[in-house]
Amino acid sequence: MKDNCPTCLERDVAPAVSRRRGQRTRDGYQCPRCGQQWITDRITTAYPADQDAA
Ligand SMILES: [Zn+2]
Repeated sequence: MKDNCPTCLERDVAPAVSRRRGQRTRDGYQCPRCGQQWITDRITTAYPADQDAA
């Protein structure tokens, strides 16, 4: 799932690393514009299925 950079607000940054553990997905990002790195944890089942297409 793409995310926005928390520093420069670059949009639609694709995850560089995506790890799934049970119902949790951890995506690691690096912003192509400013180089900011961040990690987002998600509970996979907390999102309705139709969000997968977004
Ligand atoms: Zn950035």
